[in-house]
Amino acid sequence: MNKKGILTVISGFSGAGKGTIVKGLMKRYQNYALSISATTRNPRAGETHGVEYFFKTKEEFMDMIEQDQLIEYAEYVENFYGTPKAYVDSQLESGKDVILEIEIQGALKVKEKFPDTLLLFVTPPSMQELKQRLVGRGTEDSKTIDCRLKRAVLEAEGIDQYDYLIINDDLEECIVRTHNIIQSEHCRVSRNNCNIEQIKEELKKF
Ligand code: 5GP
Repeated sequence: MNKKGILTVISGFSGAGKGTIVKGLMKRYQNYALSISATTRNPRAGETHGVEYFFKTKEEFMDMIEQDQLIEYAEYVENFYGTPKAYVDSQLESGKDVILEIEIQGALKVKEKFPDTLLLFVTPPSMQELKQRLVGRGTEDSKTIDCRLKRAVLEAEGIDQYDYLIINDDLEECIVRTHNIIQSEHCRVSRNNCNIEQIKEELKKF
């Protein structure tokens, strides 16, 4: 039976809570592998190289692009972010469902390269709440918050290219809902061609 993992992209406006949902998924369930991205942005207080991100200089990042080490990369509010290829490939092969927490340009590039990628978009219940969350977490200055809100306007235009919209109203419910969506995908007929062929072959023997 088909054992390969599902590549899942989780995107959402900055401040939507997608990072918290992803952390909850990783903590609660065993079958996920979270891809750690490379970025040229500076670490925030409490962030560690190799945990939240691989923090790179612009030069190092350009080398990764040149050596074809990234599945995709994108520029977001004056910094580069990209998904290292090797980890994703090996985890999918081993049967893990791999989570990429990436913005929309990268998500669409991944979908183009791997059409069976599952695209999930996380949003807070209202845009007023989005602004409050961004201001409340206190990790960005007001100029960066403005840039991120402007960016949200652009990102909203791409939501209809996603497969599922997840409204982050209650965190615990959201984590379970996200898990259920991903696990249901394993049953999709188009993801089970090998199993279907096997069923047909076995039936021929009767
Ligand atoms: P932050 O600076 O808040 O950690 O991330 C900014 C944005 O970059 C978020 O929307 C995040 O999902 C996205 N991001 C993180 N890693 C990647 C990546 O590897 N590729 C792309 N395209 N976006 C990423």
